[in-house]
Amino acid sequence: MDVNGYRSDGVGAAVALVNFWTVDNASPDAPPVTVEALRALLAPFSFLTRDLRAAEVAPLAAWSTELRGVFAADDLETAVGLANGLLEQVTMRPRLVDHGYGLHVHYAPSGVPFAERVRINTAIGMANLLADYGIERSGVCAADRCERVYADTSRNGRRRYCSEACANRANVAAHRARKRAASGTED
Ligand SMILES: [Zn+2]
Ligand SMILES: [Zn+2]
Repeated sequence: MDVNGYRSDGVGAAVALVNFWTVDNASPDAPPVTVEALRALLAPFSFLTRDLRAAEVAPLAAWSTELRGVFAADDLETAVGLANGLLEQVTMRPRLVDHGYGLHVHYAPSGVPFAERVRINTAIGMANLLADYGIERSGVCAADRCERVYADTSRNGRRRYCSEACANRANVAAHRARKRAASGTED
């Protein structure tokens, strides 16, 4: 992965957006999402979130639904097709910049709206993740009844769950299942 975190920021933002829109706020009964909530969600991923406008909230929800497909794809060909579909929707203009974090590449043309920067960064982040690792590093949480997605940009990358909580829950369930099998009882 790149040293300045550009790719991992894009991937991290993709995970956050997909979980935010397609899990946390997916219910029709969920209260409307505020600009502030979306700013707080994206702030950890190096976006200038003050540029986010209310009119961009709904387009980002739609984009997040499309992003989810890349995580949920069962095979690489499907994931690549969906990621290319995302890339086709954005216009990039890469250039080298240094604004305090060391030299790195910006892909968005300068001055484009916030939502477009998010689209570009998440699309290029997921594209690079697939190019580097195939679909081995991203997916939908393996725990029962959890629909959250994850991406693993760590060195060894063996993650299968969205969180420690889900990993622990799954381990406990597997342990119980083994004990039941060993004792020959069912419940
Ligand atoms: Zn930058
Ligand atoms: Zn989970």
